[in-house]
Amino acid sequence: MLINHEKLKGFAQAVFERLGAQADKAFETADHLVEANLKGHDSHGVGMIPNYVGSALRGGLQVNADARVVKDQGAVLLVDGGFGFGQVVGRQATDLGIEKAKAMGIACIGSRNNHHLGRIGSYAEQCVAAGMVSIHFVNVVGHPPFVSMWGGRDKRLQTNPFCCGVPTESEPLILDMATSAIALGKVRVADMKNELVPENALFDAAGRPTRDPAVIAEGGSLGPFGQHKGSGLALMCELLGGALAGEWTMQDIDQQKEITVNHMLMLILDPNVFGGVQGFRREVAGMQAYARSAAPAEGFDEVRLPGDPERASRRERLSSGIPIDPQSWGAICEAAENSGLTSSEIAGLVD
Ligand code: NAD
Repeated sequence: MLINHEKLKGFAQAVFERLGAQADKAFETADHLVEANLKGHDSHGVGMIPNYVGSALRGGLQVNADARVVKDQGAVLLVDGGFGFGQVVGRQATDLGIEKAKAMGIACIGSRNNHHLGRIGSYAEQCVAAGMVSIHFVNVVGHPPFVSMWGGRDKRLQTNPFCCGVPTESEPLILDMATSAIALGKVRVADMKNELVPENALFDAAGRPTRDPAVIAEGGSLGPFGQHKGSGLALMCELLGGALAGEWTMQDIDQQKEITVNHMLMLILDPNVFGGVQGFRREVAGMQAYARSAAPAEGFDEVRLPGDPERASRRERLSSGIPIDPQSWGAICEAAENSGLTSSEIAGLVD
């Protein structure tokens, strides 16, 4: 099925309000999730609603929490999200970081105890909109690991995203990626659609490579992207996002429960404090054009830069609607009913 993005947003907002969330927090979370769908990341869109509803009903997600400054020392801020909607408390921590970077030229923000932050690129877009460069290291805790390290059969990490945003004269450059070969949510989506995942992304419980997404439910693991390099970057996300910002890493097996928590270390840099914003923007624009001017390799139509695929998807889905497979929609509606919406209310919101 295809659903119009505004209807989907109204529906998601209604679910979160039924969980007791204030209207502005319900709206902001719904808006972020639907934006992820528009940008082609269904793994981080409304398909997360069952996770969020379950977490709120179990007392994990605190739907009305706001970010709280724990420490403010020089260029460093430590901000606690109180297990609030990551989309709200993560945005609040980023707002605080941008203000500090404007004042000091650089800010380093530990943003800890956020319920699932969703698409990390959204925080980079926030920084870039304020003219800032940003770097984000994120770990994922609160439930058992799904990702194996390069060479390991047992799971040790989560999909630990890394992100970097650079403002440009035109569209921003947003590199936003899981450090696993594919995002866990994409395995969930593939499983729901009965599709295979790309080669070298999954391993079964015996450590054998497979393309079958069902192995995740049978003790299998996601591998790191880029073999030892992705594995190393994932570990750095665990240590910088988890150990430094969050003081909570995956090795604490007593804390592997049923909640999705993100800790994020953010570096926000004002390009004005280096050689000046003009030289920086000139070099970025020149490099963008230079990179795009490369002749396409066999099997490619052009060289794309980070953020291009998301913009293309957004343009298309704004007009065509957001595709949701029947299994995912069934799980979302079941969660909506668990939040207190009736089936006729759901139908009224999306039909
Ligand atoms: P992806 O592999 O689709 O894209 C990764 C990056 O590569 C993006 O910046 C994209 O613009 C760029 N890209 C994609 N195709 C390209 C191409 N052909 N040419 C040039 N650049 C290209 O993303 P992913 O790794 O599947 O991550 C999806 C989302 O999941 C991200 O938004 C991430 O933040 C999110 N995520 C969140 C969590 C969490 O715990 N909150 C965990 C993992 C991932």
